[in-house]
Amino acid sequence: MRILTAGLMTETNTFSPLPTGWAAFEAFGVQRGRDGLTETSVTAPALLWESLARAEGHAVAHSVITFAQPAGPTVRAVYESLRDEILRDAAEQGPFDAVLLLLHGAMVADGYDDCEGDLLTRLREVVGPGVVIGAELDLHCHVSPAMAAGADVLVAFKEYPHTDSMERARELYRLVVDAAAGRIRPTLGLHDCGMVGLYFTQTPDMRAFVDGMVALERQPPVLSVSLAHGFPWGDVADNSAKVLVYTDGDAEAAARHARQLGAELWALRDKVAFKGLGVDEALDRVAIAPPGLVVLADTADNAGGGAPGDSTFMLARMLDRGVGNACLGPLWDPVAVGFCQEAGVGAELDLRVGGKACAASGPPLDLKVRVRALCAELRTPSYTAAMVSLGAASWIEIVGTDIHVVLCAQRMQGFSPKVFTELGLEVAAMRLAVVKSYNHFYAAFAPIAVDIAHVAGPGALMGDMAAIPFRRRDLDYWPRVAEPARAQVQPAFPNGNPVAKL
Ligand SMILES: [Zn+2]
Repeated sequence: MRILTAGLMTETNTFSPLPTGWAAFEAFGVQRGRDGLTETSVTAPALLWESLARAEGHAVAHSVITFAQPAGPTVRAVYESLRDEILRDAAEQGPFDAVLLLLHGAMVADGYDDCEGDLLTRLREVVGPGVVIGAELDLHCHVSPAMAAGADVLVAFKEYPHTDSMERARELYRLVVDAAAGRIRPTLGLHDCGMVGLYFTQTPDMRAFVDGMVALERQPPVLSVSLAHGFPWGDVADNSAKVLVYTDGDAEAAARHARQLGAELWALRDKVAFKGLGVDEALDRVAIAPPGLVVLADTADNAGGGAPGDSTFMLARMLDRGVGNACLGPLWDPVAVGFCQEAGVGAELDLRVGGKACAASGPPLDLKVRVRALCAELRTPSYTAAMVSLGAASWIEIVGTDIHVVLCAQRMQGFSPKVFTELGLEVAAMRLAVVKSYNHFYAAFAPIAVDIAHVAGPGALMGDMAAIPFRRRDLDYWPRVAEPARAQVQPAFPNGNPVAKL
């Protein structure tokens, strides 16, 4: 069997003014072929697929694999160029029996609201109906009819934080290879829950829901179960939580299970939907928490959701309230990092911090700071073994306060305490750490925190899902309306069903 892998990943916040162009992809690397693939980057699943395939005597070729930090829509020519490279490899290096893709599922480019649907549709035209196409998706994906029809199998992460990306890659491999060998016939049931929101899987109710999905996968004829949570800040028609159930050839069972799981999520909606604290409410909580480290997530400025990562709302309020023994990071400010590097460790300088990228960044803060530490490149783990780079970084102490900030030159959310400790800032010994992240920080910070709270303050990622100013997506969704008419079971999508038949 001959297998092609490819990857084109970014999550698009259509409300973000930050463009996603070549530099955004090159910051993570645009890998072509086997060279450059590593187990400590977003390319890790492709190497897993290669090793699984080789062990079974299959041949593997790698097309482009690349990722860009979430931001605004991708530049049209950049998307088209990367897409066409994958299509060209599929045509010229083939024939293949199967294609394994790493996609995000919420990518938008200028002129393309559904990049993954476009790519899968074109790829199907190139390889033909007999080739099995599978894609691993981030659970923050919009599953469109074109995606469901273009792929034979879609497998989304089950965990948020996404700690299971390698497990899901392994499952996708098995399903795709078994389908290509004719041993199974994946048949999709898709249920649209009519919900826009974020659902953290570490909470007891979502934990039970995920465990239920895993249990269902052990019941034949079910092959695979995913909950596509959707990505709230993608203003596209298909933005909605959706349940995907693949069975082995049983369309009725697939639709029935999808509908049942959708009803279960619907029943949980009030319990599991994200509700953040206001900034002051969160800072009040610090005062009454037991001794130890309190972690507050500045969710509205999560670079991983397309926010700039340089907003000052939380820091300004901490200064106003005289909070001490506190740190905040990572705050994206390449200009300020450059000034700190120029001044050197130990220097005191007047520094304009944050508030530079866009209106959602808030105003810049003019501060007297002391440079406590510098590093040429700050690298931390992400939610998997993959490492991420925050570029050059500096630890600054705001003079006259006991507030410490980690500045970074490359946009990145705070995945790990190493954001602080790699610069020598012992975050575990502090009272308060404010981390710019939505939920991916959780797994690594939980062991050192006595209390963790999510803050829904001002910023680019509006925490009130009912108020997101959609223009392309209709407003028929919970929590905007109590009973959305949209929630419905969609028709089954048999193997390789062309879009035209839908
Ligand atoms: Zn995600």
